[in-house]
Amino acid sequence: MFERLAPGTAEGPLLSIRSATGHGWGEHGPKPQWLLDRQKIHEAAIKRYAASLSALIAVFIIIHWIRVLRRSFTRDIPGLTSAGHAMLVVVYVTFNIAFTVYGIEDYSRPTTWSSRLGWMATGNMVLVVFLALKNTPLALLTPYSYEQLNGLHQIAGYTTVIQSIAHGVIYVVYFAHAGRWETIHEDIVIVAYVLLAALFVSAMAGLILKRFNYESFYIVHVLCFIVIVITLGLHRPKIDPDKVLIATLLIAALWVSDRLIRFGRHVYNAVNNSATIYPLPDGGTRIAFKKPLPRARPGKHCYVWLPQIRAFETHPFTIVSDEPLELIINTYSGFTRDLHKFAVSKPGAMLKASLEGPYGTIPDPMSYDKVVLVAGGAGATFTFGLAADMLRRMNETSTQRIDFIWAVRKHDNLSWFTQHLNNIRTHVHASKVALKVHLTSMPVSSSTDRDSNPQSGDRSGKAGYSLPTSPTSPFEKETGCPLSPSIPSPGILREDPEKDANT
Ligand SMILES: Cc1cc2nc3c(=O)[nH]c(=O)nc-3n(C[C@H](O)[C@H](O)[C@H](O)COP(=O)(O)OP(=O)(O)OC[C@H]3O[C@@H](n4cnc5c(N)ncnc54)[C@H](O)[C@@H]3O)c2cc1C
Repeated sequence: MFERLAPGTAEGPLLSIRSATGHGWGEHGPKPQWLLDRQKIHEAAIKRYAASLSALIAVFIIIHWIRVLRRSFTRDIPGLTSAGHAMLVVVYVTFNIAFTVYGIEDYSRPTTWSSRLGWMATGNMVLVVFLALKNTPLALLTPYSYEQLNGLHQIAGYTTVIQSIAHGVIYVVYFAHAGRWETIHEDIVIVAYVLLAALFVSAMAGLILKRFNYESFYIVHVLCFIVIVITLGLHRPKIDPDKVLIATLLIAALWVSDRLIRFGRHVYNAVNNSATIYPLPDGGTRIAFKKPLPRARPGKHCYVWLPQIRAFETHPFTIVSDEPLELIINTYSGFTRDLHKFAVSKPGAMLKASLEGPYGTIPDPMSYDKVVLVAGGAGATFTFGLAADMLRRMNETSTQRIDFIWAVRKHDNLSWFTQHLNNIRTHVHASKVALKVHLTSMPVSSSTDRDSNPQSGDRSGKAGYSLPTSPTSPFEKETGCPLSPSIPSPGILREDPEKDANT
């Protein structure tokens, strides 16, 4: 029996469903349409609710797996920056194989393969040049700057060389077999031999020469590139019908435009600019520039031109400070050695100078709660720059913390960054920085001391080394950092505000 309990609404009468016996609730007989409709609405609502909850759970699952994948993608793979890069390389090679066979109708005809390989090599050459651009649009559109793309530039380069050689060898063997010697002596084929040689030498320079002599590698690489572009243009000189010349012109245009941008910056930054050169102990050199570099930020890097030291060379160095623009340079055997010699002979001298850059994409450290900066020796140019930049951008409400860990071989190396250490220590937000400096060698203050005192102990300095605790120790004199007597382990000079506050 259906019992009316209340007046109906617009949707229909409100009913209480009761069993005919009056005991409990049940359903008897066919349901009226409005009840069926209401059920449908409830079902739809509960399905959507379930879907929403599932979506919420899915978001958590996806975030978890993105983190897992991110972690595994950023894991080191020998020879590559990360597993992510390794995957990119695998995809790139797969694409190359797939597009080498794509649409080939007659697999048995060698010239079809040869021709396709020529096309693939040309396409890859465009990619090689694109990945070599210092002023790459990818630096704006992705978190990768040119130096991070260099590994891919090399892989694309080797692929181009392999495809080009395969293209040439298959054609030559085919025409030689067919007895068509006149074909392999045509002008467009002879320039192709030069093109292949230039490609090969360029790749070998990158593979071998770069390790021994960077400047020679650079000159060979650039000269080979010019030969490659000219001979590719001569090898396929017509836009119609094969259109390879379009790719050649694109390659040339990309390279020339990048060079023009760099040259323009050099000219602009040379105007009214000079560099003051200071020697630092143990082979270091400090350069301070008169003119600021537009868009410079500590942690980025720029190319330096000092014509009085080396007229035809520019070298990359990390910006330690941008007001004034300052670089700290370690000594190797070329430009840096000549620079250091000059600094020692004329400390504080001013030189005509120019800069080019800045380059480098670095994640914004301010978007992290805790930033751990670890560096060894002159590598601290990057970490001091980042720490200074973070401190400058902090305010009273900033909650970020910095763990600054720096390992140096000698006390002498501390003075390379005296001013920067002091800046961190005396900064209004210094309490947010835990500064730890590790000394890994004996505290000899000069090479003369060391040489005149061969008994001074284990040169590696690790065994039995105790920290100088005198108030006039070189570290204190240089940095003003008092050495805590409760230093946790030999070789660590430590300033940890959180720990200090707790003790
Ligand atoms: C992005 C970046 C930032 C750098 N920041 C600093 C820094 O802040 N402080 C510092 O002391 N060093 C830094 N370096 C290293 C510095 O560029 C080289 O030590 C310097 O160019 C060596 O010059 P050289 O003629 O004395 O070298 P060489 O004695 O001829 O070679 C020493 C080493 O430097 C490499 N090298 C030489 N010339 C170049 C070049 N033009 N480009 C890249 N590598 C080169 C060589 O391959 C070799 O491994 C940085 C390098 C890069 C790539």
